Amino acid sequence: MRAVVVQPLQAGSVRLAEVPPPVLQRGQALVRVLEVGIDGTDRDISMGEYGEAPPGRPTLVMAHESVGIVERVAEDVSAVAPGDLVVATVRRPCAERCPNCAAGEFDHCVTGHYLERGIKGLDGYASECYAEDPAYLIGVPSSLRSVAVLLEPLSVAEKALREAFAIQARMVWQPGLSVVAGAGSLGLLVAMALRLRGVEVVMIDLLPEDHPKARRAVELGARYVDGRTTGLSTFRQRFGPIDLVVEATGDSRTVFEGLPILGNNGILVALGLSTTARALTIPADAINLERVLENLTVVGCVNSHRRDFEQGLVDMGRAQERFPGWLERLISRRVRLDEVAHALERRPDEIKVVLTISVGAP
Ligand code: BGC
Ligand code: ZN
Repeated sequence: MRAVVVQPLQAGSVRLAEVPPPVLQRGQALVRVLEVGIDGTDRDISMGEYGEAPPGRPTLVMAHESVGIVERVAEDVSAVAPGDLVVATVRRPCAERCPNCAAGEFDHCVTGHYLERGIKGLDGYASECYAEDPAYLIGVPSSLRSVAVLLEPLSVAEKALREAFAIQARMVWQPGLSVVAGAGSLGLLVAMALRLRGVEVVMIDLLPEDHPKARRAVELGARYVDGRTTGLSTFRQRFGPIDLVVEATGDSRTVFEGLPILGNNGILVALGLSTTARALTIPADAINLERVLENLTVVGCVNSHRRDFEQGLVDMGRAQERFPGWLERLISRRVRLDEVAHALERRPDEIKVVLTISVGAP
């Protein structure tokens, strides 16, 4: 079968290849892939900055954002059936079965030896089909088929909010004003989830106000600020104290600029991966003093739990009612599998690029 493979840590090695099809094992479902989404992590991997092939192999099948249709199931499988529309989760437990992995909380793996499909040690979903344990598959209603490929990134946004609310349960907390830095698909999905919860959102990115990303923000009822002319540092004065900052750019500077704009008891959630090794000079004492005196929290947040996919499905349904067509408009380009090189190109006006693997109906 055809698959998009990469040689991790080798820039420019992405190619379409013929690979052996998966063999359906006991306890597994065989899923035909309809679409995969391309995100920053995939681009980092394609540029040789991240990623790990399965043991003993030079190449990794790419992609971790997917939607597919169950084609066949092993005899002992009843949790999913042929024809079901499914999205697969990304992370798998560590071999040591650390306490969190044993409890199903792989996103908080203690050893760091977890695996991630399409990223770390396990093949991803950019192939005609894959085999998987249904415990890692999320059933999706057919009404969400056109946008289901966005469920994985949405699950990361959902986890960010779940963690923020869980941590802030240390007191009475009703966020009034939030800032989302980075209007890529992840930042926009965070903004969507916040707007669905009635939270005011200001989004910032280094883009003009008529850029599609900025327009998507405004369509959610968020305010958009062009960070090239108005930096984060002006926000406290302009908007008042901020309760929640979500960093979705991967630029570490934004984390340190985002802290001082938080009001008392505020929280900053860092979602963006910084894969370079840049050093910064920061006013560390002032930042720390304020952090202590104002009970500030900074939390790093990666991956997501099955429950975040489930919450994502609920929010997708709500978003389709409240912001009709908005999720569809996040997908700016669909590219055929044999044109994968074009899918990895960065084009200025794009939000989410999706690779179409198969077009068949269930
Ligand atoms: C994925 C996560 C993954 C992370 C780090 C992200 O792009 O959405 O599931 O844990 O990359 O590898
Ligand atoms: Zn673990």
